[in-house]
Amino acid sequence: MSKIEFIPNLPESDKKRVVVAGGGFAGFKLIRKLIGRGYEIVLLDKNNFHQFQPLLYQVATAGLEPSSISFPVRKVFQKIKDVHFRIAEIQEVIPSQNEVVTDIGRLKYDYLILSIGANTNYFGQNEIEENTLSMKTASDAILIRNTILEHFEKALLETQPEKIEQYLNIGIVGGGPTGVELAGALAEMKKYIFPKDYPELDLSKMRIIIYEAASRLLASMSEEASAWALKYLKKLHVEVNLNTRVEHYDGNCIRLSDRSIVSSKTVIWSAGIKANGIQGLPAEITGRGNRMLVDRYNRVNGFANIFAIGDNSLMVTEKYPNGHPQVAQAAIQQANLLSKNLVKLDNGIQPKEFEYNDKGSMATIGRNLAVADLPFVKLHGFIAWILWSFVHLFLIMGVKNRLLIFLNWTWNYFTYDQSLRLLIKPKPFLKEKNEVSCITPNELIINNN
Ligand SMILES: Cc1cc2nc3c(=O)[nH]c(=O)nc-3n(C[C@H](O)[C@H](O)[C@H](O)COP(=O)(O)OP(=O)(O)OC[C@H]3O[C@@H](n4cnc5c(N)ncnc54)[C@H](O)[C@@H]3O)c2cc1C
Repeated sequence: MSKIEFIPNLPESDKKRVVVAGGGFAGFKLIRKLIGRGYEIVLLDKNNFHQFQPLLYQVATAGLEPSSISFPVRKVFQKIKDVHFRIAEIQEVIPSQNEVVTDIGRLKYDYLILSIGANTNYFGQNEIEENTLSMKTASDAILIRNTILEHFEKALLETQPEKIEQYLNIGIVGGGPTGVELAGALAEMKKYIFPKDYPELDLSKMRIIIYEAASRLLASMSEEASAWALKYLKKLHVEVNLNTRVEHYDGNCIRLSDRSIVSSKTVIWSAGIKANGIQGLPAEITGRGNRMLVDRYNRVNGFANIFAIGDNSLMVTEKYPNGHPQVAQAAIQQANLLSKNLVKLDNGIQPKEFEYNDKGSMATIGRNLAVADLPFVKLHGFIAWILWSFVHLFLIMGVKNRLLIFLNWTWNYFTYDQSLRLLIKPKPFLKEKNEVSCITPNELIINNN
C-alpha cells in the first residue's frame, strides 16, 4: 500500500474522531475514560500490546514472563464498538489538514493526542549506544535476559580467568530506580540461582557494578532513601561507584571518568531518557528532554486540537519549573483530566487546569527490601517492600496478570528460584513477497465452470 493513502477499513462515523498516538500509561488511561462519551477513538501504536514498564527488570532477570506484564491491545478493547486499533508508527503531523502520517497510511483527526512516551537517551554517545543494552521495552528486557544467560554459557567454555570474568561481570550505568532495581535483582540471582545453575563457575569473581555520575543513588528521591538503597545494595555485594561517569565502552572494556578500566561484556545503560519526537510541529514547541511544551490543559503550545500527555509532554508550572516527573502517575493523572476537559471544550465549558498530585515514589532492592518516600512518611526495609508489592499488584492491569505475578512472587520468595531461564531466540519474520494474485486467469475459467 502506498504511504500516502488513507488507512482503510475504519467504519464511517458521524462522531468526532480522537486519534490517540501511543497506548502506554497515558494513552490507555485516556481511552478507557473516553469510552462512552460520544467519540470515535482510533489508537495507533507501533506494538500490539500495552506494557507495564515498572516490572521490566523482573523480565530481564528471569523473574517474570513478558506476558505477565504485557496486555494485547485488541483483547482489552475487543468489546468496545467505538475503539479501533492499528499497529502503526506515527511519523508526522500535518496540523493544517488535521492529519497524521504513519507507516501504514494517513488519518484524519478532530482531536490528536500524542502519548508516544520516551526512549533511552545516550546523550549522543554513539559508541555507548552501539555496545550497551537498554531497558525500555519488553524486547529490551528479553535481550538482557538472553545476553546474560548466553554470556554465562560462554564463560563455561573459557579457560583464562580474565575472559571468564569479562563474561560474568555486569556493569549498570545509572543509579536511578531502574539501575538500582536491576542491580538488586541480579545480586539475588548471583547469590541464589547462578551457583546452582553453574556450579563449575567461580561466582565470587562475578561483579555487579553501578556507575552513577551524581553523588547519590535515586537522585529523584529523598537523601534517606538514597542512603538506605546504598546500604542495601552493599549488603548484596553490589559495587556502587558514585561521582563516576562511563566515558567509553567498546563491548569489552568500560572506561571511566577516573581513567580506570573495568572488563565486562554486559553493560546496561539506564542513565537517562529522551521524549519521542514527531515531525511536522514547529521547533518552538520542543522543550527540555525533547518534550513537547503544553499549556495547563495539555494542549500543545499554539494548537487548539493537538494534545500531549505523559512522558512526551512538558508542562511548566510554578511548582514544577522543569516539568512533571516522567512517571506513570503523572501520565495517568494527565490522561484522566484530559478525558474530562475534552468533553468540556467540546461543549464550550471552561476546562480545568492540571495540578499534579504526587503520591510518592518507591524503589525495590532485592527480594524483600525497598525504599518509599510517601507524602507524609518515609519507609524502608521489609515494610516498604510489602507496600511496593501491593502498589505494583494494584497498578498492573488484568486479574489474571495480578494473580500470575502474585503466585510467581510467592513461589520465588519461598524457593529462591525463578524458572524462566530459557534462552529462546526469536527467528526473523518471513520476508514478504511481492504481491501476485493467487488466482490465474485459467483457474478463474475452470472455477466458473
Ligand atoms: C524500566 C522502567 C521502569 C520504570 N519504573 C517506574 C516506576 O516504578 N514507577 C513509575 O511511576 N514509573 C516508572 N517508569 C516510568 C513510566 O513507565 C513512564 O513514566 C510511563 O510509562 C509514561 O507513560 P506514557 O504513556 O507517557 O509512555 P509509555 O508508557 O512509554 O507509552 C508510550 C507508547 O507509545 C508507543 N509509541 C512510541 N513511539 C511511537 C510512535 N512513533 N508511533 C506509535 N506508537 C509509538 C509505544 O509503543 C508505547 O506503547 C519506568 C520506566 C521504565 C523504562
